[in-house]
Amino acid sequence: MATSGQSPRVAQEPSTIMSRLTYLWVKWVNQIYLKGRDWLEYSPTNNSSWSWRKVCKIKELLQSQFIQQVWREEKGHEYTIARGYEFLRSKGEPVSWAKLVWHKYTIPKHGFIGWIYQLGRLNTNDKLYRLGISEENNCYLCGRVGETIEHLFFDCDYKDDIDL
Ligand SMILES: [Zn+2]
Repeated sequence: MATSGQSPRVAQEPSTIMSRLTYLWVKWVNQIYLKGRDWLEYSPTNNSSWSWRKVCKIKELLQSQFIQQVWREEKGHEYTIARGYEFLRSKGEPVSWAKLVWHKYTIPKHGFIGWIYQLGRLNTNDKLYRLGISEENNCYLCGRVGETIEHLFFDCDYKDDIDL
């Protein structure tokens, strides 16, 4: 139990653990991938993992901005995390349904499901069956027909009973 004037030990541990994990990751990357090579010159091999190639691609994209001097030491042009994020994030065309899905009063779970629905990416049993992940395509709720997005939201006998 912490005494007055001392910070509780538990409160300090997460940052210490994260610091050690970060250090371990950096050490692991240095030993496994870089092997003493310069990070700025490094390119991943074809048999590198997808995630590692993605990290390297992001490094190259950010590096290109520094080379082109988009970010430099002049005031107003310096690199910030916000500018880096803004550069890296994908900027698609605005969609008409965005305000229906991403509204301040929308329950986040509903917004996420609405977003995935609009993109046609809900993993219905019908889709999972076509991908070979599910052994059958029937609706889990009624079992009558294939579980498609249209069936789940507009045709299923249980559509009104689902509490999203
Ligand atoms: Zn159904």
